[in-house]
Amino acid sequence: MRYIFENGNSNEDNQKKTNNSKYTLWMNSILKRSNEIGKVELPICSIILDERGRCIGRGVNRRNISKDPLGHAEIMALRQASLIKNDWRFNECTLITNLEPCTMCSSALIQARMGKVIFGAYDKKRGGLGGSIDLSKHESAHHKMEIIGGILEDECSKILQNWFKKLRTQK
Ligand SMILES: [Zn+2]
Repeated sequence: MRYIFENGNSNEDNQKKTNNSKYTLWMNSILKRSNEIGKVELPICSIILDERGRCIGRGVNRRNISKDPLGHAEIMALRQASLIKNDWRFNECTLITNLEPCTMCSSALIQARMGKVIFGAYDKKRGGLGGSIDLSKHESAHHKMEIIGGILEDECSKILQNWFKKLRTQK
């Protein structure tokens, strides 16, 4: 039997909410950093937490700064975290980012065996974890990844929309 709280949410739903609130805190700091990087790059920031919830990697979009087509925030965070971890496997880790990872980054996260991926805004055009295509459910994905999208979705979408709007008016 599922116990129903007074607010109408089940025990399971409330548990989820508590778990998600810690991601909201991280997402707020990601948005802050994204705003800063937004002056020179697409405002995307990613962090990786280890099994104890400690941040072991952080990355921002660096495509323009580094002239690097692979310079996405998720890849930067993976590189830093693998150095700290001295391992390429991330089964017990969580990646948090403000925009749904693209197909390249989703594949990299699958290759890295990332345990959990948390993101804010869905990317209907290029998203690789459900927005456009869900690579984590493809038969080529050899491990199971937990995915939670839509954390602070409005705030995350707004930062990106404003950035593109600004870019258009500058042209
Ligand atoms: Zn990407």
